[in-house]
Amino acid sequence: MSLARKGVLLAIVVLLVLLAAAGAALAAKPTKVVIITMDQMKPWYAATYDMDNILWLQSRGANFKNATVGQMASETVVSHNTIVSGQFPKHMGWTDEVMRDTSNVLGYGAGAIVTVGDLTYEQFTLLVEAEGYPKLGDYMHAKFPGKVVANFGGKYYQVASTAASSSDIWVTFGSKAQTSALPVPEVLPWSGTYRGPSGGNVPDYIANDDRFKISTGNDLSTASPSPAPNDYYGTKTDKPAYLYPEDGRMVPGPYETNLGGDDWVADAAIKVIENEDWSALHLNFSGIDKIGHMWGGGNVDKVGRYDWDPATIMAQVHMPWIAKNADKQVGRVMKALRDEGDWSSTLFIVLADHGSTWAKRAHYVDAAGGGNLSWYYDPNEVAKNTTYGRFGANNETVLAPLNATGNLAYSYQSTAIEAWLIDRSWTKKAEAAGAMKAMPDVIATYVRWGDRYVLTSKGSMTRAERIWWEGHGQRLVNTMASPTGPDVVGLLKDQTGYGVYGDHGGAQREVQRVPMVMYVKGMKPKVSTAPFRLVDVLPTVLYNMGIKKMAPMDGRAYSLGL
Ligand SMILES: [Zn+2]
Repeated sequence: MSLARKGVLLAIVVLLVLLAAAGAALAAKPTKVVIITMDQMKPWYAATYDMDNILWLQSRGANFKNATVGQMASETVVSHNTIVSGQFPKHMGWTDEVMRDTSNVLGYGAGAIVTVGDLTYEQFTLLVEAEGYPKLGDYMHAKFPGKVVANFGGKYYQVASTAASSSDIWVTFGSKAQTSALPVPEVLPWSGTYRGPSGGNVPDYIANDDRFKISTGNDLSTASPSPAPNDYYGTKTDKPAYLYPEDGRMVPGPYETNLGGDDWVADAAIKVIENEDWSALHLNFSGIDKIGHMWGGGNVDKVGRYDWDPATIMAQVHMPWIAKNADKQVGRVMKALRDEGDWSSTLFIVLADHGSTWAKRAHYVDAAGGGNLSWYYDPNEVAKNTTYGRFGANNETVLAPLNATGNLAYSYQSTAIEAWLIDRSWTKKAEAAGAMKAMPDVIATYVRWGDRYVLTSKGSMTRAERIWWEGHGQRLVNTMASPTGPDVVGLLKDQTGYGVYGDHGGAQREVQRVPMVMYVKGMKPKVSTAPFRLVDVLPTVLYNMGIKKMAPMDGRAYSLGL
């Protein structure tokens, strides 16, 4: 090699070293992670509802614009634990809102049917420990001993399942409204019932702060501002919201000193950011999910009697206001991180646990509170920890073919149908699948066989439904293939609901597509078309924080180029 060529080579090497050094200086490996999970969000909400903070993150971070849930059931209590474990539902211990406790982990008896949404923190912990996989908190404790891992959210099961076995602090609303005799009634702008913070190791600065008491479902007919939310913001009577009405928890409400919903969650998280030496925070914002269930997420038909004038309190129970407000809370958390000097060392993630659809084809009990009558069906009263599915019409008309087999132990239906059977021989499973095939708007049926599902029938589909189903259906169903999971599964047409008007749970594109953005200060922005799934979140977090995997995961890591 000539001297001149050696010189050129040396110059290139020096340049590469300088570039690498510059890259390292711009975005150092993060030592903290914040995951904000929007409970239900479609990717297009960010632009449509002016979610400026999420748009800012998307333009400066890694925007995985083709991200999906990537598994079933696309339900809150399943997705949340996947996000913090990197495990498919089939390896988690539960795969949907209902499970068969084959190994008697919970002590109700081997094979007992239990409803997952009613499990306690201790029971979720038993299920996780029986499968033996580490979660986000375990990794953070190993890498950053002594630093706090905390979870916050509006629903007990979502926070308890996420925190189970690995977090130090978890905070949610108290599960029951408490009545009268408030400890310090003069600080509250209402009389009657309220909810306070609850959970595990709730810090004193949250437990003892009256700001964290909120009004829920009170008779506020004499309160101001007017109109007062004295009838659950009208959603107890308005169709279709009355299927699953808002009781005051998931929206901020009218009392500025005691806001509920996503404001409450953000405030609790900010308190921890200000007061603790922490390494990982997982926040769940539940507002969008509640509004999406009531009116149909992203429904352009604008159903409901209230206009969307953001100046009225009733705007809070509609999507434009609640989505914008969720984004504001994202911004408040970002500001708290900046104020506390944590921003440049934090991997900041915003994602959703599932999307949603709405039921042009409705097969549920159309009545006040109909959601819980329709989602759960327990014809022989076999479930051990719940009485859901035992009252009222119970969707018996539409589910009659399935029950007529005389072999149905329990079924759960949302935007997919899942059945747990009494006799689980191949013949009896095939019989149930045959009954399911005949139910309205079923596009494919599957029977579990070991660690996979076998397609047993397919129905008519539109071209768009077929393209999505051929690309994703089998793979999505297989992520539930565990002994705890359903014996028979029916996938449904787009815009079909067996539970409530706005719903999720199945394999439809609208339900599976989610936003996914990851940001570290100084990183090179990137738009990725990679098929990112929820199961990839934890491996990606660990990889980009330089933390080694301790156990197998179902997901894979994506480099953020830090
Ligand atoms: Zn959810």
